[in-house]
Amino acid sequence: MTLACPECGAPAPRGAVAGRAYACPGCGNPVLPTEREARAPAAAAAPPPVESGRRRRTVGLALAAFFVLGAAYVGVYELLTAESKRELAELERIHGADVVTAPPPGARPAADDPAALRAWNATRDRYEVRTRHETLTSRTGWFFRGMLAAFAAQTLLTAWLAVKALRAPSPRR
Ligand SMILES: [Zn+2]
Repeated sequence: MTLACPECGAPAPRGAVAGRAYACPGCGNPVLPTEREARAPAAAAAPPPVESGRRRRTVGLALAAFFVLGAAYVGVYELLTAESKRELAELERIHGADVVTAPPPGARPAADDPAALRAWNATRDRYEVRTRHETLTSRTGWFFRGMLAAFAAQTLLTAWLAVKALRAPSPRR
């Protein structure tokens, strides 16, 4: 039990006794103290417990969105890179996987040396295949990184929405 001002509720100053008037430090009025239940300081209103059912639904929705969107991103990636991958496989089937290390042709030999010219043409052609292979590989690489970045942003958004939904006060029934 504590003593407090009946007017403004301010706690009575130390030494105040029930039944004896005192000047209230809160409102300044001369008041007789009233006894009041000592209340523990009001703990910050904890958010109402999120019903486990709503939490499970929200988390379930977020996970479903994660997997469905993930599958969609993989699908779009495969779609966008299908042509490039097909051509890459074809290049490797025809020219061998080591085409990626084909050396550049260097300087063109004189026209009066047909054997050197033939060898140079073959080197040049092979190097062009290598260049094409590199272009296709970098294109699929860019698509992959783009999809990954988009999916990461999407996942962050989904997580943020889920956290927001979980933190939102449960609707009154
Ligand atoms: Zn008062």
